[in-house]
Amino acid sequence: MTFKIAILFLFLFVSTFCIAQRPPSDIIKTDKGDLIIQPILHGTIVFQWNNKTIYIDPYGGAAAFAGIAKPDIIFITDIHGDHLNEKTLNELQLNNTKIVAPQAVADKLPAKFKQDLIVLNNNESIRRMGILFKAIPMYNLPISPDAKHTKGRGNGYLLEMGGKRIYISGDTEDIPEMRKLERIDVAFVCMNLPYTMDTHQAASAVLQFQPKIVYPYHYRGKPEMSDTESFKKLVNNKNSSIDVRLRNWYPEYE
Ligand code: ZN
Repeated sequence: MTFKIAILFLFLFVSTFCIAQRPPSDIIKTDKGDLIIQPILHGTIVFQWNNKTIYIDPYGGAAAFAGIAKPDIIFITDIHGDHLNEKTLNELQLNNTKIVAPQAVADKLPAKFKQDLIVLNNNESIRRMGILFKAIPMYNLPISPDAKHTKGRGNGYLLEMGGKRIYISGDTEDIPEMRKLERIDVAFVCMNLPYTMDTHQAASAVLQFQPKIVYPYHYRGKPEMSDTESFKKLVNNKNSSIDVRLRNWYPEYE
């Protein structure tokens, strides 16, 4: 009996520990069933909707996706290793998976990933699996050929599914294209200087385009530049109706 109880506690400990590694998923009701949002790591997100699985910027190796369905479609935002991550792409099961990426990413993708590749550049759209995907610009200010993210190279993405509009910023500053977004239900907004923007810029942009829900993500960097608690305060002090969701985007994966 004591042995059985010990095994039960061990099981509970192991399962709690394993589940604790990955942030909890959230469910958003759409006109066509639930959209499941699963934060993975840094700028990496998994969406599940209508029996389809979408990976954004897969990173962290196969371990980061353990227990999650393989992707039907992958979206890559930019050329840097935290977004175009060859190690992770190599470790994932990608037979019958489409990859969508801007031309600059397509140019760097190994040949074996190019057979199911769809090139999508800024402001272009495609419809797949009942979802409209639009590429939104992402870049640093001022616009410069020396910028870490030059204008026209990478894509943020806007997804429309079941009447909901989901925005993924990619690595950007508070550009006009983000500020003028409308009717956004869920936004993922980056913040880490010197690569993207600071919490004040991010909060200012979010207060302008007013998503219903915002997840600060991609915030690894200097702590004073990536303080998501202060981002939440900056937003909610001026607009308490925006649901700012703080998650641990930096769990340890084996
Ligand atoms: Zn990045």
